[in-house]
Amino acid sequence: MNIIFLGPPGAGKGTQAKLVCAELGIPQISTGDMLRAAIAAGTPTGLKAKTFMDAGQLVPDEVVIALVQERVALPDAQKGYILDGFPRTVEQAQALEGIATMDAVINLKVEDQVLVQRISGRRCCPQCGAPYHVDSLQGETTCPADGATLIQRQDDRAETVLNRLQVYHQKTAPLIDYYRGKGILWDIDGAQSPREISAQILTALEAIR
Ligand code: AMP
Repeated sequence: MNIIFLGPPGAGKGTQAKLVCAELGIPQISTGDMLRAAIAAGTPTGLKAKTFMDAGQLVPDEVVIALVQERVALPDAQKGYILDGFPRTVEQAQALEGIATMDAVINLKVEDQVLVQRISGRRCCPQCGAPYHVDSLQGETTCPADGATLIQRQDDRAETVLNRLQVYHQKTAPLIDYYRGKGILWDIDGAQSPREISAQILTALEAIR
């Protein structure tokens, strides 16, 4: 099954993609993670992407489309995958149609006010990538899983968050109607607990299978 997780930054796409991928035994393909890995490795793609990402802007379509095209061709993606953070523009969605057929789009809905609070309090482990929120860390500054010092992503800083939300509303939100029109979109309330959200996603996917 090929699935898209759609939603604004901070909606919980990454967290839910991990849970659902583990349940279904398919890989999570996160363009954000791939771009951050490219930046860390200092590849030409990473160098191209960094300025856009730091400013909360989208990386050019052709860069992410090429990344996804290569990734979905790998052997572990042949039984299905979850695209987390791709497509983010109608142009990307149209390009994806030439790459693979999508079975379902999960649209995680969360109010802007909640998103700002979630993203600006988010801290990540630079080693394992796990996300945390300052409210649940209770002053802890290291990753409970591997002890690495937690960091705030450059693009999670308050001044960049509003930019990312604006970009979402302008460029990514039109994909909701795009996929609704194709009859494969499922709306999920992303303000619920992570466990409730993944249960609803799995029920929706079960209905499609
Ligand atoms: P994410 O981790 O999904 O929140 O993505 C972090 C940043 O990576 C975004 O703000 C964009 O700058 C970039 N990015 C990730 N996925 C895409 C995409 N599909 N198209 C363009 N830029 C992307």
